[in-house]
Amino acid sequence: MEQVVIVGAGPCGLSAALELQNVGIDPLVVEKESIVHSIYSYPTYLQFFSTPELLEIGGIPFSTPNDKPTRAEALHYYRNVALRRNVRIRSYERVTSVVPTESGFRVGSVDRAGREASREARYVVIATGYFDHPNMLGIPGEQLSKVSHFFREAHPYTSTKVAIIGGNNSAVDAAMELVRVGAEVTVVYRGDAISPSVKPWVRPLFESLVNKGRIRMLFGSRVVAIDETHITIDRGGTVETAENDFVLALTGFRPDREFLKSTGIRMEGEREKPYFDPETMETNVPGLYLAGVIAAGAEANEIFIETGRHHGAAIAKHIASRPLRS
Ligand SMILES: Cc1cc2nc3c(=O)[nH]c(=O)nc-3n(C[C@H](O)[C@H](O)[C@H](O)COP(=O)(O)OP(=O)(O)OC[C@H]3O[C@@H](n4cnc5c(N)ncnc54)[C@H](O)[C@@H]3O)c2cc1C
Repeated sequence: MEQVVIVGAGPCGLSAALELQNVGIDPLVVEKESIVHSIYSYPTYLQFFSTPELLEIGGIPFSTPNDKPTRAEALHYYRNVALRRNVRIRSYERVTSVVPTESGFRVGSVDRAGREASREARYVVIATGYFDHPNMLGIPGEQLSKVSHFFREAHPYTSTKVAIIGGNNSAVDAAMELVRVGAEVTVVYRGDAISPSVKPWVRPLFESLVNKGRIRMLFGSRVVAIDETHITIDRGGTVETAENDFVLALTGFRPDREFLKSTGIRMEGEREKPYFDPETMETNVPGLYLAGVIAAGAEANEIFIETGRHHGAAIAKHIASRPLRS
């Protein structure tokens, strides 16, 4: 019987693991890919908007000479923290069910080879993030191979016509990187102005590229259809088609509610926010906790590493205060 199983080895799941270690519990973390898989999936040359101390977990310093860390530095930091603190991680094993039992929970999982496992745990922390669930456009052509909801790096798009859908940091960063490799970039954004959340040190550079005509920026516009060679754009009532090789739909992510619902966690309100006590992060299912961005409502950006990393301490404090279940 495990004392605590944590589902997901993102920054917030790892933070919970370290905080539990600090109260004398050695949790098992089950991760369907490798640790901090979401950060691994970020754009290769990403620079965080957070300063390093706001990304630290377990009170372990994140040292870098840079004002804002890069993706590579964050991978290095979280990987080394997990290794140095001997966090027990089962990688490449997807948790498929969390079922309450008399003594806690039965956690079902399946590994890469398709082997199923079942573990008993007194307490379970769900820290599964949101990165697997991009907001879908729901338009014809979205399933084509030329369409991606993720951007890794610009090289494959050299000398092609790329449409970026979205107007937040991911869209702006990708547009600037694509221009540098000679792509012809159109940004299609439903908003009327550049999002206020765009990193303030990036915004003037982006605006300058738009003003110079090197990025075509379409406000108040939506891509309504995609085919192999063109996209159709609704520009506030006027419909136009444009030649197109690739579409990057960088429209954000939403936490997956289905897995949470299957565990018995109650969803509240129109935005389907999972119920939890903010003091302890315990859900309506006794002994079942949430950590990180999975605790957010439909607007996933309300929780990020800076904030979600603190959930682990609340969980550890609450579990440590409970009588040990036999
Ligand atoms: C491009 C980009 C830049 C960002 N920059 C910043 C920034 O500068 N500062 C900041 O604070 N935040 C930033 N964020 C947000 C931040 O990445 C997320 O808030 C953070 O990853 C949330 O951490 P988490 O541990 O809750 O979830 P995640 O990091 O998503 O980790 C969840 C983990 O759970 C695993 N998992 C999922 N389902 C299962 C399952 N069924 N079984 C087992 N494992 C499972 C996943 O593989 C993943 O490893 C950025 C996000 C993006 C996309």
